[in-house]
Amino acid sequence: MTEDRSEIRSRLCGGNERFRLLDPARRIDTARNGQHPWAIVVCCSDSRVIPEKIFSAEIGDLFVIRVAGNVLDNHQIGSIEYAAGHLHCAHILILGHTGCGAVSAALGGGGEGFIKYITDDILDAVGEEREPDRACRLNALHAAERLRREFAGHPEIGEVQIEAAVYVLESGEVVWL
Ligand SMILES: [Zn+2]
Repeated sequence: MTEDRSEIRSRLCGGNERFRLLDPARRIDTARNGQHPWAIVVCCSDSRVIPEKIFSAEIGDLFVIRVAGNVLDNHQIGSIEYAAGHLHCAHILILGHTGCGAVSAALGGGGEGFIKYITDDILDAVGEEREPDRACRLNALHAAERLRREFAGHPEIGEVQIEAAVYVLESGEVVWL
């Protein structure tokens, strides 16, 4: 157990060392001068869905909110509100993905424990739909719709463009809905 832990720690440390060599100028610039992300991305926590890689983005480019099933609750909406209202980032993308375990769990009857909060939201979003890819699209569209509703009549947030898309795990393509 202890060995496992130190092995993971050394992988993490090694990765961090390599990362620090990558783009020090941009890292230092954004640290000193602040962040100006050009898009807000809400996506799943799935380890295969990595927005910075999917969109070839750099440090400071994307304001990312990751949560299993790309569902929205107050914490997520608050994060988006901050990026839109305070960082003036006007483009919001809800990014679902094919093969989403959270969507499958919801379609299979829902999860237990804290997972149930997520699967309940997804079931709400998909209604009677039980085909996983269509359910995934409905789930992303539902989150986009909710955001539009929540942000309507909040002039302090400013004009925001809210879109939904699906990332295809196998091809790496992002399909706009
Ligand atoms: Zn997922």
